[in-house]
Amino acid sequence: MMAHGRNGAAAPILRSSVMQYNRPGPRTPSDAPNEHPDTRLVRAGRPVAKYTGVVNPPLIRGSTVLQPDTATRRREGKRWLEQSLTYGLNGSETHFALENAIAEIEGGTHCQIVSSGLAACTVPLLGYLSAGDHLLVPDMVYGPTRDFCEGLLKQFGIETTFYTATATAHELAPLFRPETRVLFLESPGSHTFEVQDVAALCALAHQHGAVTMLDNTWGIRHFQPFQHGIDLSIQALTKYVGGHSDLLLGSITVNDEAHWRRVRSTAGMLGQYASPDDCWLALRGLRTMAVRMNHQMQSALHIATFLSERPEIQRVLYPALPGDPGYEMWKRDFTGAPSLFGVEFKSSFTTEQSDRFIDSLSIFGLGASWGGYESLIMPTYGTIHRSHDIPLEGPTVRIHIGLEDPQDLIADLTRALDAMQR
Ligand SMILES: *Cc1c(COP(=O)(O)O)cnc(C)c1O
Repeated sequence: MMAHGRNGAAAPILRSSVMQYNRPGPRTPSDAPNEHPDTRLVRAGRPVAKYTGVVNPPLIRGSTVLQPDTATRRREGKRWLEQSLTYGLNGSETHFALENAIAEIEGGTHCQIVSSGLAACTVPLLGYLSAGDHLLVPDMVYGPTRDFCEGLLKQFGIETTFYTATATAHELAPLFRPETRVLFLESPGSHTFEVQDVAALCALAHQHGAVTMLDNTWGIRHFQPFQHGIDLSIQALTKYVGGHSDLLLGSITVNDEAHWRRVRSTAGMLGQYASPDDCWLALRGLRTMAVRMNHQMQSALHIATFLSERPEIQRVLYPALPGDPGYEMWKRDFTGAPSLFGVEFKSSFTTEQSDRFIDSLSIFGLGASWGGYESLIMPTYGTIHRSHDIPLEGPTVRIHIGLEDPQDLIADLTRALDAMQR
């Protein structure tokens, strides 16, 4: 281990109560093709035998990695595409464990961990686009991704066309140009939750020689990007993987060597790094993600149904809810859903009343992000920027359902809806 000898500057921190012996080293999905995905969430990225039997991979902090001799240093320096311990920026065993786990869950071959979910969106765009190029981005893309396209990419001479959230392949086809290099997707989209026909759009993009990138944050655990023609799958691990609202991380997963080379080298050139402490926490979050998500989805369906039946509410925007415009496509492509949805009030309500509703809640926290164990609410009216029309008339909010008792959450919402009327 690194604590001994010259090969390493920092001692790993091994935290474990259980010592587990006799388990194999790193595994890939092909090692256990019939394993349920939830079993993989527990087993992925745990080369137990490597770490004297402790259950969790070690937390390794370190910038300098000492080498035994110059020949090793030269040899290791060339291995930047692999998981080689050469310098802190290239990652440590803690990063590699998380990368292996996420690659396995997303169904890819390689994964690059980056500093945030937003970085996981911007790094590949920078890596694949040059001055004069064009890209297609869905209108309901995560706001900061839109800002990046309209900001830095525009500054670098790269032009973005925002296509409608529900565009079919037929409608999207005329938007491709000879210089269109990237089709970006996010399904369902931020705030309005439209579901995209990912397979059809990717097939079209590939006919035009474009690379397909999907922000798959909403689809973690429930959408297999590479089975639908995605080339790069993006995750904000900040959300359910972290699961406890105390870390920021992103991942870019690929299933092809050429894409891996491009993604890995771009992240390296940009000096992308993630804290090993955050990676360690994300690995811990991963182990309980299935039970958290199952519980939260059941609560979310229950509460979304309750809200959709309230007279104040025009519409609940949640593809997992029967009757949602995206429901059929969601049922076809996804195996489940996170507990995140939008709510549109009837247009007779003012934004002041919607604010009063939010301010009257006592269990729901008012704050950004989602995927943690606690319920959150955010006003979204005034923050939904679109190039095309959006079919929303009343004030809107976004709700994330946590692990609190659903009846307590419904009581909280009922009180706030009553307060809103006054
Ligand atoms: C939260 C989020 C991100 C950004 O993640 P951060 O870790 O907060 O930077 C990107 N895409 C989607 C869809 C998100 O919900």
